Formats: sequence, structure tokens, C-alpha cells
Amino acid sequence: MNFVGYRAILYEAAERVSGAKALPVSVREVCAYFGVPIRRSEATRKAALIHPETAPEILLPKSPSTILPRSWPTLPYNLNGNDSERCREAWDRYLVAHELGHLLLFRAGVGRPFGRGEYYLHEELCDSFARWLLLPEHLAQELTRPLPCNWTQATEALEISFRVVAKMESRAFVPWILAAFRASDCSPSFGFLLLTQAESQYRVRITTLPNKRAIGTRIPLRSRLGQELRLLRHGDIRPLAPELLIEFPSLANVTAVAAERVGRGLRIALAL
Ligand SMILES: [Zn+2]
Repeated sequence: MNFVGYRAILYEAAERVSGAKALPVSVREVCAYFGVPIRRSEATRKAALIHPETAPEILLPKSPSTILPRSWPTLPYNLNGNDSERCREAWDRYLVAHELGHLLLFRAGVGRPFGRGEYYLHEELCDSFARWLLLPEHLAQELTRPLPCNWTQATEALEISFRVVAKMESRAFVPWILAAFRASDCSPSFGFLLLTQAESQYRVRITTLPNKRAIGTRIPLRSRLGQELRLLRHGDIRPLAPELLIEFPSLANVTAVAAERVGRGLRIALAL
């Protein structure tokens, strides 16, 4: 599989379709352009593209509790703890855009993934396509412009980065994590982590760092970093001393760190 070539095909398709559009991009209009209806179905537990060769259709599950991508099975559906209807709709938009990516890969002559490695490459390509489609390049660049290039005020910069991602999330009407990935795409010196808490530890569930760095990292609540994170209340954004990360090798070598708690979710921004 020519990963780079297919990436370019998907990027060009996203730019062609939504590059000149205003935010939020209408997913229905985009699907109509590609001739793909969207339907909710009792028959599926996850979003799916069916019949790509004859009569393509994108199915969305009926039940909101099953709507998360399979690769993120244990994340709470609504990390914000509020506005769940809107969160669900943002997820739906992401899922539909992702499935459209599969259709475009199919139309570009890409067969079914061969083995696990290729499956994840497909998934990654379709996630990238969803980001490019819902946050087109020039708008993503414009929204991330406030991010500074140097780190004289690194901590302040991280607070700005949280605000930039929040703005991308609401303007593009996408899940926070999609906006965070897009911000990292545009400004690779920023990375974002999404953590969940399970009993005695926090765990990194999603990372925007290259090569999924830090994925799965466990931070015991009793560690110094864990104790600092526990102090955060909903809506807090707090800078953390980078030294707190030293005992976690996958998180080491960062210039600055800030954390934000939103409902049950914990987000960390890193300056690399
Ligand atoms: Zn997929």
C-alpha cells in the first residue's frame, strides 16, 4: 500500500470539497456531493460504510452509547459532562467524515486492509481525512495562528493552545480531540493528551504526539504528577512543572506542561 500516495489523494479530495467552505462544514452536503446517503440503523453497533462498490451508504448506530470508534472503546462518550446532544452530533460528524474517507480509499482502488498493521494505516488515513475535511487547511492555519513559535512564555503559550483548540472545536463543530489533532498538525511543537481515570491511576488514552508517543502511559494518583492532576477542578487550566514528568519516560523532554479538567476528562498540553 502506497501510504504517502493515498494520503495525498485524501488531502486533495478534502481540499477540493471543503477547502473554500465556511465553518462548520456541512457533512450532509459533502455526502450528497459524493452520492452517499447517511442512515441510522439498529443493525450496526458502530459507524460503517456499506456497499461501496454498488450503492454506498454510511450507517450510524441508533444507540448513542455505542457510537464511539472501536479503537477508543472505554472512553466516556461525553467527556464534557454537559451538552451531550451537541457532543453526540459532533461525534456523528467525525464518524461520517471518517467513513467517507474509506469510500474515497475504495474509489482510489485500495482493497481491504491486509492484516492488523494495514488496518490501522487505513484508520489513520481516514482520521486524517476527517480532520482535513472538517477543518480545512487555510481555516485550520488561521485558527492556530495565535500559537507562538518560541517558548519564552511557554506556560502562557499552553493556556493559549487550550483556548485555540476550544475555538477550533466550537467553530468547526467537531470533537475536542479532532481539533487537538488538527492543532498539532498545524503546529507540531504542541501535543495534546487525553486521560481518563481508573481507580488508582490516570491513563493516557489518546495522544496527538508523533508515533502515538505516550499512549497507554499510567500515572498513579499517588505520584507527584497524579497528586497535582487530582487538584484540578472542572474548567481549571493549570501549568505544571515539567520536572513532574521526569518519572514517566514517554512524557519526558518537554519544555512546558499544562493540564485542564473538563468533566470526567483530563487533558494535558505539552510544548515540545
Ligand atoms: Zn474506519
